[in-house]
Amino acid sequence: MTTKRTLVSLIEGDGIGPEIAAATVKALDAAGAQVDWERVDAGLAGVERHKDPLPQATIDSLKKTQVALKGPLATPSGGGYRSVNVTLRQQFDMYANVRPAKTIKGVPSRYENVDVVIVRENTEDLYAGVEHYVDPRRTAAESIAIITKFGSERCIRYAFEYARRHGRKRITLVHKANILKMSNGLFLDTGKEVAKEYADIQFDDMIVDATAMKLVLQPERFDMIVTMNLFGDILSDLTAGLIGGLGVAPAANIGDSGCAMFEAVHGTAPDIAGKGIANPTGLMLSAAMMLDHLEQRDAAARLRKGVIAALANPETRTGDLGGKTNTAGYTDAVIRLMD
Ligand code: NAD
Repeated sequence: MTTKRTLVSLIEGDGIGPEIAAATVKALDAAGAQVDWERVDAGLAGVERHKDPLPQATIDSLKKTQVALKGPLATPSGGGYRSVNVTLRQQFDMYANVRPAKTIKGVPSRYENVDVVIVRENTEDLYAGVEHYVDPRRTAAESIAIITKFGSERCIRYAFEYARRHGRKRITLVHKANILKMSNGLFLDTGKEVAKEYADIQFDDMIVDATAMKLVLQPERFDMIVTMNLFGDILSDLTAGLIGGLGVAPAANIGDSGCAMFEAVHGTAPDIAGKGIANPTGLMLSAAMMLDHLEQRDAAARLRKGVIAALANPETRTGDLGGKTNTAGYTDAVIRLMD
């Protein structure tokens, strides 16, 4: 049976984005992915070409294709425009950000046997965009964390459903409800309620500071974590560090609207952009998650096989992982080792 070809919006992104996107597209072709690309801009490329960090054409493309592969986008700290990443996740209501971190054999790391999936709420919390200066001289500012029962429940439910689909045994809800009694208390209480419907999945909760320590001391204790936006953002960089670094960590943004967007956990890496040395693994593994989502499982398996085999050998992995090759050399190895 031939697989139906799917049109996918491709946002190459800023910094190392174009380099890792080109590598990923090449590897996807070689893996036999049945996708056609609609290339659209966002971030700095959007500003340069359309004077808009999130051009209407990009929004229209996502509305049409309902699936996107996205490179990292630069968001200047402080003033300027709002994060395009946050806007895209909110606009398409992709409320769950799924970030798996699994030890990859051969990749240098301080730990073995890490296998944890973080489900991060993606639309609320301190990222809801409710911020203002308190005084006209701008010497004090306030950012408000919005947590709703609705937003908490659908994300936590997504985590439980994910656990069932993927044979996961335990979910740890991470919070700071001892101090943030109302907002984080609401997330925790909602989690306890939802958990009652999933007797087959173990459920516990942990305060975020203790979680940070336990993840470092005993990461194999964790199976899945569900948490709010800010804690999820921070802890998923931590879990990326447990498996070798940001270069290898993938992510998926999913909601009920049907739209899904796949991107690496890392940012634009401006320090190495344009040098041809970036590690495209995070985006490649995000693309494998995209192929699973599109039910192109054979191509996903081929891509993962090539990635894992190339990472196992220092000759064929990139410098950030102690390897000897560059983006192009690694990509060629991934393709060669797929079969
Ligand atoms: P970063 O993830 O870009 O880089 C952190 C460090 O990790 C750097 O030393 C970098 O060289 C290294 N690194 C990251 N990805 C790598 C890769 N694929 N291969 C090899 N090394 C890699 O984080 P940052 O420097 O804090 O952020 C830079 C910019 O990226 C900021 O504008 C930030 O807003 C943006 N950002 C975007 C996203 C996204 O689009 N999803 C996520 C995080 C940060």
